[in-house]
Amino acid sequence: MPSPRFEHVGVAERRHHFFSIGRRSKRVAMLDEHIQLLMENTNSITARCLCKAHTFTASVAASSLPLPAECCHCDSCRHVTGSLYLSSVEWPNPDEDLSGLHCYPFSSNIHQYSCPTCSSQLFSKLKGGNNGASDKLEVFTGVLENAPNLVKYTKHIFVGDTLDAGATIWFSKDVSSGEPIPRWSGREGLSEQLPPDWPAPSSSGAKTPEEPHPEFTPLRCHCGGVNLLLRSAVDIPQVPARDTDSPNPKLPWYIDPETHRYRANTDCCDSCRLTFGTDLVHWTFAGLGHISFVSPFPSPSSNSFPPGSFPATITELKTAVLANPNSAAQEKDTHRDLGIGTLALFQSSPDVERYFCRRCAASVFFAVHDTDRMDMVDIAVGLLRHPDGARAEGLLSWKYGSVGWIEDVKGGWREALVKGAVEGSEAWRVRGQIGTGTSGGDDKE
Ligand SMILES: [Zn+2]
Ligand SMILES: [Zn+2]
Ligand SMILES: [Zn+2]
Repeated sequence: MPSPRFEHVGVAERRHHFFSIGRRSKRVAMLDEHIQLLMENTNSITARCLCKAHTFTASVAASSLPLPAECCHCDSCRHVTGSLYLSSVEWPNPDEDLSGLHCYPFSSNIHQYSCPTCSSQLFSKLKGGNNGASDKLEVFTGVLENAPNLVKYTKHIFVGDTLDAGATIWFSKDVSSGEPIPRWSGREGLSEQLPPDWPAPSSSGAKTPEEPHPEFTPLRCHCGGVNLLLRSAVDIPQVPARDTDSPNPKLPWYIDPETHRYRANTDCCDSCRLTFGTDLVHWTFAGLGHISFVSPFPSPSSNSFPPGSFPATITELKTAVLANPNSAAQEKDTHRDLGIGTLALFQSSPDVERYFCRRCAASVFFAVHDTDRMDMVDIAVGLLRHPDGARAEGLLSWKYGSVGWIEDVKGGWREALVKGAVEGSEAWRVRGQIGTGTSGGDDKE
């Protein structure tokens, strides 16, 4: 993926720079010693967004590392990130100044904060309530730096919402201890703890291409401002090839030829994890011709598309989104395109657009202006609402046992996490004999 790469300046590196400062006097030496003592007992943690407009730093006791992360798999968390889960740790400063961020009322007592420019999901604030409890601030683990031993996944909650175990198949065990990470059906301690063999392998993998299941899958963010449908890929072999020299219809690279389902994969690249706020990001790929608005809205502002039809190329999509009024005041305006809804974009590099919901900040699409990708997008799997469950096995063909852009996690706390994700998903594949979604087509590797 041609997105820009970012330099990481880890805690250890900053420490090294700090201690290389010479001791010019006894007083400075004493100060150094004092700071060194402090530095030995505390670590700084940094969260920042993809566009780098917002950076937050706080101190944590070294003894509290690795910070325990909770992974929520509920419907709402999937629909608000676009990933298959939401992972967070407590931020040490509950009074952090978040005034520069976009605030989304996620629920009556939870507000989520994201970068208004690049949509990086940064914080969740839980209101303390009337019983005197103080507010609690949590940071999304995907926006934390990749320093060694910083974070560790310790629990999965609301796994029951996924129906198919969702992202827990990548994070079933603690890599260092080999112990299973507890999975709760709902809230920790207040719901059933799910056994390691839950659920039984799905029968979806056995469905033939003749069984679209269902034909249309809703693709909708948490706030509903992005409200689309993804059509099943089963009809695609009948689409005539654009290359007229070819006697047979040519299957796009993003369709698994065995199942005629959209390929789906996982990615741990820095740009994706900073955008979604989760350490592992889940993508599928589809032609724009298979995406539609939910109903043929009257569309007074977009004269270029007939009502109800989705833009056919990523250039048209970009034009439509940029033409759509962007401010909350304009949202009430009748000229707003109801089909495009709250879809917004961040140009993360000259030829790449990352689409998101500007109200709830969910990631939606990834588009690259390559000649063979002009009529397709990557789709954030967390927005799909499929009857089989979070991984939409009847619609998608997953590439288990592999994670894209693994070089980005080397040397930090994510290295072990991703190693576990590769092993865990491979174990799942073997257990279910679901098929590998093999070979090629993975543009992010
Ligand atoms: Zn940003
Ligand atoms: Zn949740
Ligand atoms: Zn939304």
